[in-house]
Amino acid sequence: MAQTDYYELLGVQKGASEDELKKAYRKKAIQYHPDKNPGDKQAEENFKKVSEAYEVLKDPQKRAAYDRYGHAAFQQAGGAGPRGPGGAGGGFHDPFDIFREVFGAGGRGGMGGGGGGGIFDEFFGGGGGGGTDRDGSDLRYDLEITLEEAAKGAEKEITFRRAVSCERCDGTGAEPGSKKVTCPTCRGAGQVRRSGGIITFTQVCPTCGGSGQKIEKACTACHGEGRAPKTTKLTVRIPAGVDTGSRLRSAGNGEAGLAGGQAGDLYIVLQVKEHELFERHGDDLFCEIPIKFTLATLGGSIEVPTLFGKGSLKIPAGTQSGTTFRLRGKGMPSLRSRTQGDQLVRVHVEVPQSLTSEQKKILEEFAKVSGDADHPTSQSWFDKAKKFF
Ligand SMILES: [Zn+2]
Ligand SMILES: [Zn+2]
Repeated sequence: MAQTDYYELLGVQKGASEDELKKAYRKKAIQYHPDKNPGDKQAEENFKKVSEAYEVLKDPQKRAAYDRYGHAAFQQAGGAGPRGPGGAGGGFHDPFDIFREVFGAGGRGGMGGGGGGGIFDEFFGGGGGGGTDRDGSDLRYDLEITLEEAAKGAEKEITFRRAVSCERCDGTGAEPGSKKVTCPTCRGAGQVRRSGGIITFTQVCPTCGGSGQKIEKACTACHGEGRAPKTTKLTVRIPAGVDTGSRLRSAGNGEAGLAGGQAGDLYIVLQVKEHELFERHGDDLFCEIPIKFTLATLGGSIEVPTLFGKGSLKIPAGTQSGTTFRLRGKGMPSLRSRTQGDQLVRVHVEVPQSLTSEQKKILEEFAKVSGDADHPTSQSWFDKAKKFF
């Protein structure tokens, strides 16, 4: 019998932190807890499995052994066939012990108060916003857009999957028609009082997640979770000026919460595609344009593409290759201010590679007439270089 990978069982990455492991286990343990899934053998089996997985992975030594040897690390030496969790030699605890340990209370049998204040503190100490584990998580959507869209702004329709309140049970987790009963752990209060040493804490009831009620029969569509994945379409308005890495937040479009918890948010992370002509430097756009050597010499004007239509650029007579010109206001709009970047155009002077005999004749005549006189830069360079000849 093949055993499922512990990381997979908890739904975490191999490198998951202790914190991530705890969070993942808490979620799964609540989902599969037999009290929440009465009579559901599969849920009970899953509950055992995730508890076993967490028991191993929370312990650095056991985790290291598992990473090296897999499940074999916890089978008895000499291994007479596969051994289930909890078997002699396997050394796994009662899954309810793990549950109690992590939640501080509310496992089957309730164990009374006290004990394990340390673990208790780990989870509920610090007082940071109680019950946040019922809130839905945030989602991330990576969206690629063109530079034109980034410059002008755009509306994009995106499709993604997220957990929404289950339609069958209306988010309650209870099979329609089944009754809800008062939660035996908190007797309907939704909270339990736990004492950690001399201090008494109040915490959200781990059995019912704070609702004070327990489900008699889990909804068949969502298995009692109260939410189910659904494909969602959304129109996203992208403001002009965004760049790669810009994040747009769509409030409440993350995962639905549990038991009245708040929905998470959707974050759309933008990636601006590379453009064939333009390179972006902050709010400025940069491009390189070849011009004829005659134009560079005689001057004139050229048509220049911009993201906002055609522009015109004046080339003064005697323009050298590599000269950069600035087209004001033809760059990217700024996200933060009402200003607009510029478009920088670097010209690169092209020399003809094949000449007709007529062109050659004219150029030779040109060379003869001009001599060295009209090339100040090369003139001074040769003056300096003469010393070395
Ligand atoms: Zn309760
Ligand atoms: Zn449901």
